[in-house]
Amino acid sequence: MSSLDARLGVLRGAAPPLPHNARTLAALTANPSCDRRSLLDAAGIDKDALVAHLGIPRPLRKSQLALDYGIAFERQVTDQAGAPLVPLLRQALGLTVDEVSYEDVNSVGSDKDKSPLGLRHTHTRLRILSAAHRKTKPRTLLDHPVLRLTVAGHQAYLEPDVIAFQRDGIFHVIEIKSFPVVHGQPDPAKATAALTQAAAYVLALRELLNDNNLPKDRVSDTVILVNPRNFTRHPTATLYNAAQQIKHLSRHLSRLRRLPELLDSLPPGTTCDLAPGPDTKPARPRDELVAALATMSPYYTPGCRHHCDLAPHCRTEARNQGRTQTLGTTVTGDLAGIDTIGTALALADGHLHPSRDQEAIAQALRHAQRIHSDLQRDDE
Ligand code: SF4
Repeated sequence: MSSLDARLGVLRGAAPPLPHNARTLAALTANPSCDRRSLLDAAGIDKDALVAHLGIPRPLRKSQLALDYGIAFERQVTDQAGAPLVPLLRQALGLTVDEVSYEDVNSVGSDKDKSPLGLRHTHTRLRILSAAHRKTKPRTLLDHPVLRLTVAGHQAYLEPDVIAFQRDGIFHVIEIKSFPVVHGQPDPAKATAALTQAAAYVLALRELLNDNNLPKDRVSDTVILVNPRNFTRHPTATLYNAAQQIKHLSRHLSRLRRLPELLDSLPPGTTCDLAPGPDTKPARPRDELVAALATMSPYYTPGCRHHCDLAPHCRTEARNQGRTQTLGTTVTGDLAGIDTIGTALALADGHLHPSRDQEAIAQALRHAQRIHSDLQRDDE
């Protein structure tokens, strides 16, 4: 075990690590300034268990109905050796009939529903390299592949929906999503989230090729989303350029390499350990856990509630500290360099003399204060 693993193990405590996945990677890019999230995810700490022990409301999960609908749609698209998918890809990517072949690596060499991730990864790797070297007939569709991506020195398993391999040797990642495309337009937020997930798969595929001395540019920036069309269950395939998401994720992953620095900033022995006591509940006093979390620097924004289970805890903490970030990204941007609401108010009413960097903002705050006072006088 490396010393980095050992230090992350101390931070995690007795529980086994939860691996990164495309969703956690996408969440990291949503708030790259949050050291707390970076540390918790790198250590593989179960945030849901933290939330339960902190006694704060658990985030709403997708309903079982919505999950079942998503699974049914994916099965519908990849049914019969990908038969419904092939015409969509043929149209989207210009594949010809004789190129299309299909392999499902969900269960490898057994009748089990799913083989272990490691085995599926080995199988995926061999299929992709074989196709890339063209020793066998190129695989056009690889269903349920498993890729690996290095995240902060760790290998994270990722499961794209499908990888398509085109005749000219370019790989494309395909994501099957159950949110609809209505009159050619998907929900922008959902499409961006799907493209960020796909970006993780693109980077993992590039890492695999690069590790085997193959050019990374054989994995396209163009990814394909397959969604229900309008309000039907008929699938439609749309090409998207995910270059921005790939660049963004790649930049953030390289920033994660400064994990040792983040760990150095913690007091020795800091841990989020939730080892159970005799009653099977975590033995750790809640206050101790809160204190351990407080040593990891957060960067709360109202957007956290969309991607992080700890949002209610971090929001309360930020409000108690009067952090400007609780007021949203626009206000945080306007008050750049001023961390607390108390400082902003003190600058506005003249109780605090601005530093040279704060002079322009202080002037704007005093102007806003005057307008507010005038309006209040008019109302009286
Ligand atoms: S909710 Fe907290 S831990 Fe999660 S990203 Fe936001 S600030 Fe970081």
